[in-house]
Amino acid sequence: MELYNALIGNTKEILSKGKAKVWDYKPAKAWPDLGAAELVLQSDAAYELGALGLGSSNYICTTTSSELVSKDQIMLYGPDLKEIKKDVPFARIVLLRVGVLEGEDEEVYRALKDIEFCKYHVYPEGYMVRMSPESHREQIRVSKKAIKRGINFEAVGNRYIEAYKKDPNVLNVTVIFVTDPSIDFKALQENAKKADAITGTLTHIMEGLPTDCSVCQLKDICDEVEGMKELHFGIGDKGTNEHH
Ligand code: SF4
Repeated sequence: MELYNALIGNTKEILSKGKAKVWDYKPAKAWPDLGAAELVLQSDAAYELGALGLGSSNYICTTTSSELVSKDQIMLYGPDLKEIKKDVPFARIVLLRVGVLEGEDEEVYRALKDIEFCKYHVYPEGYMVRMSPESHREQIRVSKKAIKRGINFEAVGNRYIEAYKKDPNVLNVTVIFVTDPSIDFKALQENAKKADAITGTLTHIMEGLPTDCSVCQLKDICDEVEGMKELHFGIGDKGTNEHH
């Protein structure tokens, strides 16, 4: 599974302009999860991460490469939750290493779908997540109460990792939070769009799109993303689709 590898490389390059705090995964430190969406009213909020008008980006990259993702860890670029005093730009990027063998693309795809689903099942207390899949943004309202109780990205990150690791295909999870306004959020937003385009193409392929590149609307993505055509032709060979 190499489709997202270039994106992971690019993400690391963008973030190399900043400095990271890193924590290893410790499930015991995970922030309490309410198990259901909570409403944090504006009047109860300390601030918003990724508020409208500020940079915001959210995406997941999946790989089978242990060179690219080898650990369960939380990384933070920028100030932590208790240091933030007003709305800031925000990105949450998740890098997943999945344990299915190269070539078993249908399994990877199924795992991806499960994993996508899991992202809607994390509800840290006092940390209201609003996602906007069309614009690839994620906006968080953090309650004053949670700040008083000591919420921080390490605890929230541990909660996310725990959720992703419930999927048996997931071997390692790196959760990256970005609040440093000097990071290139436009570039992170572009990456979110690309990650979405890759996942979308993969979905079409798995749903039986015929392998005819000459009339295919997805050609631009396939020309750019290494491994996509090979994946489609590999699946096309197995099925009844005509092979080019
Ligand atoms: S490999 Fe060709 S047919 Fe398949 S999605 Fe890409 S461009 Fe379309």
